[in-house]
Amino acid sequence: MVEVIRGALKDYAWGVPDGLVAWSGERTGAPQAELWFGSHPGAPSPLVGQPVTLDAVLSPNEVPLLTKLLAAAQPLSIQVHPDAQLAKVSFERQAQPGSDQVYSDANEKTELLVAIEEFEVFAGWRDREQALAILAQIDGTELARPILETDGPIAAIPALRAIDHEGRGEQLVSALRALGMNSSEVDAYGTVAQLYRSDPGLLVTVLLQYRALAPGNAIFVPAGVPHSYIRGLGLEVMTSSDNVVRLGLTPKPVFVEAALAALTNSPDEVIFTSEFGERISPAGAPFAATITSNETQLESGAFRLVLALESEASVRAHGGGATISLQQGEAAVLSAEEPAVLVSTAGVVAVVEHLPR
Ligand SMILES: [Zn+2]
Repeated sequence: MVEVIRGALKDYAWGVPDGLVAWSGERTGAPQAELWFGSHPGAPSPLVGQPVTLDAVLSPNEVPLLTKLLAAAQPLSIQVHPDAQLAKVSFERQAQPGSDQVYSDANEKTELLVAIEEFEVFAGWRDREQALAILAQIDGTELARPILETDGPIAAIPALRAIDHEGRGEQLVSALRALGMNSSEVDAYGTVAQLYRSDPGLLVTVLLQYRALAPGNAIFVPAGVPHSYIRGLGLEVMTSSDNVVRLGLTPKPVFVEAALAALTNSPDEVIFTSEFGERISPAGAPFAATITSNETQLESGAFRLVLALESEASVRAHGGGATISLQQGEAAVLSAEEPAVLVSTAGVVAVVEHLPR
C-alpha cells in the first residue's frame, strides 16, 4: 500500500505565525514551526481520509526517515545530535532511576537542510583565528581564549558559558562590525544578541560558522556537528530520531556534559550550492533529497517519500496501476517493497529517498 499522509504540526515558539499554512492547511493564528512527515512517536503523521497515524500502518523499520518542513522566525537552540553508538548507550543508560532524560530514542540523528527560501544558519566550527579575534574584543573572555587556542572549541564551551553575559551582545555585534563581517552576519548576531541577551549560549555562537543558504542550497549536518538554525523556510530530512542535545539559546533544558560528549572537533558539515532540480546525496548519509518540477522515476527496494510542495502531484506505478493524487501539503509514503514509480507534477515536489547503508 502506498500511504498518503499530511504533516503533523509542531507549534514551537520560534516558528513563523501561520508560516506553514500552505502545507498544514490550517490557520492557527500561532507559530507554525515544523510539519513532520513520518512515523516518529513524537508526532506521527495522520493518514489522509483515515482516523489513524502512519505508525499504525507501517513499522518503524519501514519508515527509516523523518522529513520536515521548517519555518523559523527566530533562532533554534544551539544543538548537537548523537551518532548511533552514543545514542544507543546513552538512551539505555538514562533508563536508570534518577538519570537526566536527555535522549528521546536510541537512534542516530543526521540531518540535511535544503533551503526553500533563504535560510541562515550557524553550523560547524568557525575558523579558530577568527573566533579568537572576535572574542578578543569582548570583556570577560580572558580565560576562554587560551583554552580555545590550545585545546579547541569544544574545550572552550564551558568557559564561554560561564561568562557574565550582560552587555556582551552589544560588544559581540561591535566586534563583528569592526572585523568587517558582512552585514547579513552582523544582523543575524544582532537578532541573537537581542533575543538571548542573558543566555549562557550567546558567546558559544562565536565558535560557530555563519552561513546564508540561497534557495536550493543545502547543508548536511552529520551527528556531532554543532548548529543553530537562525531563520528561513526549508525542507529537512533526517534519520528517524528526535535526539537533540542543547547547548544554549533556549529556555528548554541544556545538558552541557552530554553535548560535549556528542560534539566532534572535525568540521564535517557539507554545503551544497545546488539548484532546484538537483538530487542532493551527501557522502555517507543514508538519504538523498530532490526538490524538483521534473518527472522523476523512483526505483523499488528502499523507502521513498514524495511531498507536494507547490500545486498537485501524482505518483503511479511504473508500467501501469492506480495513480495516487497528492494535494499540496500531502505526501505519498512508499515502503521498500512498493514497486518503482513515476512522479509528476505541474508544480514542485520534494522527493526523499532512503539509501540503506
Ligand atoms: Zn539539528
